[in-house]
Amino acid sequence: MRLSRYFLPTLKETPAEAQIVSHRLMLRAGMIRQASAGIYSWLPLGYKVLRNIERIVREEQDRAGAQELLMPTIQSAELWRESGRYEDYGKEMLRIRDRHDREMLYGPTNEELITEIFRAGARSYRDVPRILYHIQWKFRDEVRPRFGVMRGREFLMKDAYSFDLDYESAIRAYRIMFVSYLRTFARMGLKAVPMEAETGPIGGNLSHEFVVLADTGETELFCHRDLIDFDVMDRDIDYEGDLKPIVDEWTGQYARTDDMHDQATFEKEVPEDKRVHRRGIEVGHIFYFGTKYSEPLNAHVSTPDGESVPVHMGSYGIGVSRLVGGIIEASHDDNGIVWPDAVAPFQVGLVNLKPSDAACSQACDELYRKLRDAGIEVLYDDTHESPGAKFAQMDLIGLPWQLVVGPRGLKAGTVELKRRATGERHELSGDSALSRLA
Ligand code: ATP
Ligand code: MG
Ligand code: MG
Ligand code: MG
Repeated sequence: MRLSRYFLPTLKETPAEAQIVSHRLMLRAGMIRQASAGIYSWLPLGYKVLRNIERIVREEQDRAGAQELLMPTIQSAELWRESGRYEDYGKEMLRIRDRHDREMLYGPTNEELITEIFRAGARSYRDVPRILYHIQWKFRDEVRPRFGVMRGREFLMKDAYSFDLDYESAIRAYRIMFVSYLRTFARMGLKAVPMEAETGPIGGNLSHEFVVLADTGETELFCHRDLIDFDVMDRDIDYEGDLKPIVDEWTGQYARTDDMHDQATFEKEVPEDKRVHRRGIEVGHIFYFGTKYSEPLNAHVSTPDGESVPVHMGSYGIGVSRLVGGIIEASHDDNGIVWPDAVAPFQVGLVNLKPSDAACSQACDELYRKLRDAGIEVLYDDTHESPGAKFAQMDLIGLPWQLVVGPRGLKAGTVELKRRATGERHELSGDSALSRLA
């Protein structure tokens, strides 16, 4: 993409309304534009990142054996009456009436709808286990939408739902999602720690929140330091095999958010030098809730003995749009965003320092073509801005690599390759730069 043709409305000033760094940087980098409180348009640069995150989430759900479908954003109130949640959900639910005066709503979550889909399509034990998911916009009329996409009213969520014959099988599904979440966040360059979460009044439930450490997060957390350094990517995961050892490893140490925290237990279980008390961002939440929805909504299957039983269910959410802000909170510096390679909107920013110089532009055009031929996404700054402005903008939008080409270097046969994360620079030939990047 040539910058001269790209819609990238970056801002020089810091927008006053933005309280946290990710919100400021997303506005300054021209990633989003507020449409109304807590509702955003995703501009080209931001939308690319959102889609990269979505792709990783999808790949890891698919890898874990979950099946993608797509449910609508607008739901009928009827199902929510069946589950008893229509009244309970309160003001966070956006309620709508259609022209026939039928009560509808913009879905804040999809347990009811997916349970209805499952009950209509499943008959027996042969129809379980299944994990179904979709990536769809949700609406919650948050009291205080803030921090940009981190607490929006309209936001993109991946929500998966598991259906099993009994508790043991449902726990297998829970572990599959648990491990797939570890991989999903690790692939985005994030350290997300699973925390024991509140499970509601019904016993036998199980729940974990995945929390990314960040001082601006809304969640207060307490955990054992070792958990933060665990790495899931260095092992082979067999989703058909026994995942209990991995889950046990990640749940073997104290990790709780404030509503579950117990100071005495924390101090007893965690040596003083290993105690972490910080803030974080909830980026995912998994839940086993048994027959909470299958009973009232009558989602039954028959067992091999011919008995009819309500299915055991779990639900598994990831805040896809919140992650865009969350990743920035975890990865930025004074000059701007520092995208992890896996989610970066472009891999390389190619900077032409002097577009009026024919040789310089020719060299840039050639690098641009070769990079694209190698399948690398490039943002090519072919504009006539000053070098200083170009560098500042490249740092702001945070592409992992900057390839800087100027007339002086070209005379010596070199270009400059800069790694955004470390600031490391190398002078090398165009060809060596290409082979580094490819
Ligand atoms: P929070 O505690 O932040 O209000 P939640 O516990 O209400 O979140 P869940 O119902 O667990 O949210 O939804 C699953 C995921 O969706 C959350 O872990 C979070 O990443 C994301 N999410 C929830 N609410 C919002 C929101 N208002 N804006 C953006 N993402 C959200
Ligand atoms: Mg909430
Ligand atoms: Mg929460
Ligand atoms: Mg939650």
